[in-house]
Amino acid sequence: MTPRRLTAIHKSPPAHWVGDGFHVQPLFGPLAFGQDVSPFLMLDYAAPHEFPPRRKPPGVGVHPHRGFETVTIVYDGEVEHRDSAGNSGTIGPGDVQWMTAGAGVLHEEFHSREHAARGGTVSMAQLWVNLPARDKRVAPAYQTLFAGEIPVAALAAGRGSLRVVAGSYGDVAGPAHTFSPLNVWDVTLDAGADLELAVPSDHRVMVALLSGSAAVAGTMVSGASLLTFETAGDVVALRAESASKLLVLTGVPLNEPIAHYGPFVMNTEAEIHESIEAFRRGEMGKIEAIA
Ligand code: MN
Repeated sequence: MTPRRLTAIHKSPPAHWVGDGFHVQPLFGPLAFGQDVSPFLMLDYAAPHEFPPRRKPPGVGVHPHRGFETVTIVYDGEVEHRDSAGNSGTIGPGDVQWMTAGAGVLHEEFHSREHAARGGTVSMAQLWVNLPARDKRVAPAYQTLFAGEIPVAALAAGRGSLRVVAGSYGDVAGPAHTFSPLNVWDVTLDAGADLELAVPSDHRVMVALLSGSAAVAGTMVSGASLLTFETAGDVVALRAESASKLLVLTGVPLNEPIAHYGPFVMNTEAEIHESIEAFRRGEMGKIEAIA
């Protein structure tokens, strides 16, 4: 086993509001939408935030996406989604929504009406996963992965848990369908946990520390941070100082040009212009207003 060596620790930029519902730290910082994080694009983390009761749910109104996938992981609270492909649903703690925007979709993302009315804590993460060029115009799709369907890989006793959202860990396979080889592991470490995480030697590896403090590859880190690694090696050493929450992201880089504008991620500027026009022409569908 060869340990992956750390290349950098990227402390999260300050949090900003997405709509009025999600106070997020953009963990990829300036690396977002670049080749150095491929096949992933960006990761927003909303630390637990207390919302007062509200009749109108906070969140983000109708907006488009094209050319990639959005993966929403709820830690606390409830998030409700509705899109122009006719999909809708509410996810709660431990649930994941994996939306393939593909050729284009309009959607809205709010706290659920019930949760908003009660008020309370909301914490979530949203990861954007790029689509290979050949799949950028697949039909929009939507996978709701409820907590009970996400398998937990066994870590040694007292070390925490590793939920396989996508890809696999050992012989445990996650439920998400993906378009390129990648892993998304939702990891909780107990204080004092000491383990070596096996990672595929041909994947890029990134560890997002969402909360807590841990030594990663021998270097102490605390608070929301993104850790990047050298390309060689097949194991990442983790030691938690305090209870910690992490997302471990690994994947084979796509090695394709990335053109990005707002909610559109394509391969060329011409495709971006065409996407903006398609959106303006209403070709990404529409969402009926809720009475
Ligand atoms: Mn969205």
